[in-house]
Amino acid sequence: MSRTVALLLKGEVSSILKSLGARNLYKCYQCGTCTAACPLSEEVTASFRKAVKYAQLGLEEKIAADPAPWLCYACGECSEMCPKDAKPTEILAALRRYSIIKYDWTGFSKRFYLSKTFELMSIAILSILTALIVYLFKGPVITERVDLSAFAQPTVAIANIIVFGVLSLILLINIYRMYKFTTSQSSSSGKLPVSTYIAEFIKIIPYHFLTQRLMARCRDGKYYYTIHLLLFYGYAVIFVHHILRHMLLPLISPTLHLNEVASSIVGISAFVALILGSSLAIYGRIKKSTIIWEYSHPTDWVFITLLWLTSITGLLTDIFKYSGLPLPTYVTFTVHLMFVVPLLVLEVPFAKWSHLAYRPFALYFNRLNEIKQLRYKT
Ligand code: SF4
Ligand code: SF4
Repeated sequence: MSRTVALLLKGEVSSILKSLGARNLYKCYQCGTCTAACPLSEEVTASFRKAVKYAQLGLEEKIAADPAPWLCYACGECSEMCPKDAKPTEILAALRRYSIIKYDWTGFSKRFYLSKTFELMSIAILSILTALIVYLFKGPVITERVDLSAFAQPTVAIANIIVFGVLSLILLINIYRMYKFTTSQSSSSGKLPVSTYIAEFIKIIPYHFLTQRLMARCRDGKYYYTIHLLLFYGYAVIFVHHILRHMLLPLISPTLHLNEVASSIVGISAFVALILGSSLAIYGRIKKSTIIWEYSHPTDWVFITLLWLTSITGLLTDIFKYSGLPLPTYVTFTVHLMFVVPLLVLEVPFAKWSHLAYRPFALYFNRLNEIKQLRYKT
């Protein structure tokens, strides 16, 4: 690559990183304090200093291959210690956004992250489309009692299967691309037996996906960890509940139903957890109460607002439903879907929510590289 081309690429990458939140990238003079100060560095091998260096040099392949940004839980300790006020926490967050853009084969993430207009238009189009589909394909509107199943079926059931299938496929392809980036820059080209892949997968993925435990090691970690768990488990419970109720059980037998009381308790508790978690996060971001929330990228606001609106309308739907109010239930449910669909379709494979998948996989791929290096170092 000629020097001019390299400089042009560096310029493009650095201006993208700047718009993704790396506001003080070139203040860094590579002292390494961030790596040393990180409370997670005892547990994971990652050089945050090196990640910042790759960003400064605009090395896009190295950035996409580097697990370090994914091993950071944005606690802000390194930013407090940074002697140049380069705000490594923000740089690492920008690098995560940049990596999401690189992993995404559709090119949608790039447009989503770099254009507020595109982001808001996508949400608006999906919301309107959802309302239109519900209006055109809804079931009978029963007003003598609340019958949400009749109102929503089969539209919701069919849409569930299509959306779930397509989104899972996109995310899996993106994770595979993450793997290819990671291994392409590995210093060892040796191969590992399939059993190692499987054993490490079992050891790392479910545990870190379900516990997000590294976050608890950060200073003030318990507070953020609690918010994180409220959001994660609130979402996970609603997701599993929804799959069971609207996809799995009707597929096994139309006569199978969840117990209504248990189902309502589970649904309402999960929505309350989501509202609490997202409200605390919104409050923290408005107040900029700590270094973690000092800077919010526009996509952070969109994500947390969508999550909050989804949760509020979900809870209201349940309240109206269990209060026996048919019309308010159907209307609120439709509005709820108008927030749920953009949240799932845009955030899970293309933006913030994909963190949930990328973080444990970064640990997994990092571990595979470590084993390779140990095995083939001579
Ligand atoms: S970001 Fe700050 S702490 Fe980290 S290497 Fe650069 S100057 Fe040092
Ligand atoms: S923000 Fe916290 S977790 Fe991330 S690198 Fe800095 S000290 Fe480590």
